[in-house]
Amino acid sequence: MEFDAIVIGAGHNGLVAACALAQEGSRVVVLEARDLVGGACVTEEIAPGFRVSTAAYSFSLFRPEIFEALQLSKYGLSFYAKDPRMFVPLPDGRHFFVWRDAARTREEIARINEHDAAAYDRWNAFWDEVADVIRPMILAEPPSLNALEKRLADQGRSELFRLAIAGSAADTVAEFFESDEVQGAFVGQGVIGTFAGPHDPGTAFVMTYHAFGGELVDGAATWAYVRGGMGAVTQALAARARDLGVKIRTSSPVSSVLVEHGRSTGVALADGTEVRAPVVLSNADPKRTFLTFVPAGSLPDEFLARVRALDTTGSVVKVNFALSELPDFTCLPGVGPQQAGTIELSPSVAALDAAYADAKTGRVSTRPYMEVYIQSVTDPSLAPDGAHVASCFAQYAPGSVPMDEWGSMRDGAGDAVIDTLASYAPNVKRSILHRQILGPADLEARFGLTGGNIFHGEILPGQIFGERLGARTPIRGLYLCGSGAHPGGGVCGAPGWNAARAVREDLIR
Ligand SMILES: Cc1cc2nc3c(=O)[nH]c(=O)nc-3n(C[C@H](O)[C@H](O)[C@H](O)COP(=O)(O)OP(=O)(O)OC[C@H]3O[C@@H](n4cnc5c(N)ncnc54)[C@H](O)[C@@H]3O)c2cc1C
Repeated sequence: MEFDAIVIGAGHNGLVAACALAQEGSRVVVLEARDLVGGACVTEEIAPGFRVSTAAYSFSLFRPEIFEALQLSKYGLSFYAKDPRMFVPLPDGRHFFVWRDAARTREEIARINEHDAAAYDRWNAFWDEVADVIRPMILAEPPSLNALEKRLADQGRSELFRLAIAGSAADTVAEFFESDEVQGAFVGQGVIGTFAGPHDPGTAFVMTYHAFGGELVDGAATWAYVRGGMGAVTQALAARARDLGVKIRTSSPVSSVLVEHGRSTGVALADGTEVRAPVVLSNADPKRTFLTFVPAGSLPDEFLARVRALDTTGSVVKVNFALSELPDFTCLPGVGPQQAGTIELSPSVAALDAAYADAKTGRVSTRPYMEVYIQSVTDPSLAPDGAHVASCFAQYAPGSVPMDEWGSMRDGAGDAVIDTLASYAPNVKRSILHRQILGPADLEARFGLTGGNIFHGEILPGQIFGERLGARTPIRGLYLCGSGAHPGGGVCGAPGWNAARAVREDLIR
């Protein structure tokens, strides 16, 4: 056989798995459906000269162990912290910044609410403690949620379990802050990519999931921009993989995994070509992997039922723009730090509740929750001179509506995003040269994300830690190496790394 292992999909996790296996001497081929590598971690041109991070846009979660082991800094991967972390314009014309510097942030928050300014250090200390609990579990075999609850209770940390895992994001922010404005600014991290409202149980964990990283940036859960956009991450991984001898074949959609006598023996491509290897790793999400690639009758009913029951609802509308000029905020006119970091359009928990209420009744949120990014302010390579690229990560789409239904909603969703941004920066409307609107059905069609769920399945209790799928599958030789496996989505590399470790352990065994 020509190869020891086949990786289906060149998302960042597939590439991490390929590198890890090749570093140990395996002959690996990666088969990617699209004509470019990267999955949801790519930089693409949306209009001549305008390049955006089409899907993922910020970098924080990537595991330092993997970054070091794969020597990614030698492959042109570089990033820089967002500072300010957030600019928060408010509907009544006020605003505040959240800087990397805590003292400066306290001063900003004090203009909004003295109590909340005083609580800010306690908030940061809490997230440091949470990160210390979560990080050791990411590249390890995870405990069940019950076991974790018991472990934390035995350590006298039941409150941490409630505030960082089982409870709601709304309760967590309310534990620290009293003003609508400050609660609103921080609560959004609890619903990112998730079809749930801020009062839903488990959204505290979505918040935690966005706060365990940052070690490569500054150690403080800071989010960064990648130079050249997020595609630079997967370009670096692909370059490393090729140096290690990995063959990467794009425009090579896999249609099935070959299973003989309970073992995977290779894959068949859509054009009928078969590629054989004793080990197959799927970077595609679990539903795609187990419900479409694997032949009927190859998996136990119980496992299939578990896969079918996975919640893969989509919630995100990503709108990418080519702009002729920067948004000019009424509350802070001109050009400055207000355009440099994350622009958080989340004025209160109630506003987020209202946005979710729209989606639950089958409509796109009229006033979506949004994180806005204008990376070309700090990385001019992404847009022509004087022009800019901006992205709005907006919620909510009304779940995973099918493409024909979504087709009649798409423009309205884009308009809601623009109207919301324009209510803070009215010049936006005249500055739009091009817009690309990607709702759940578009994310599924473009990136293969079932339901348009950005994490290959919700990261809520029932689908996290020991209750998330692992790398091993009921079919010998077949592994899951994408975000559907522990610990979950985000550009962290962990599922790919964990899968390569499982392959190695099984070979030794
Ligand atoms: C809009 C959006 C915004 C996001 N923002 C962020 C962010 O700012 N920061 C962050 O850390 N994370 C973010 N995420 C989440 C993150 O991008 C994903 O969780 C992560 O990139 C998934 O990586 P993966 O390698 O597990 O899978 P994917 O990136 O989904 O890769 C799977 C690959 O498999 C390929 N594939 C599928 N089917 C086949 C087939 N039949 N044959 C061959 N190949 C196939 C796909 O084409 C794809 O390349 C965002 C995601 C989205 C969609």
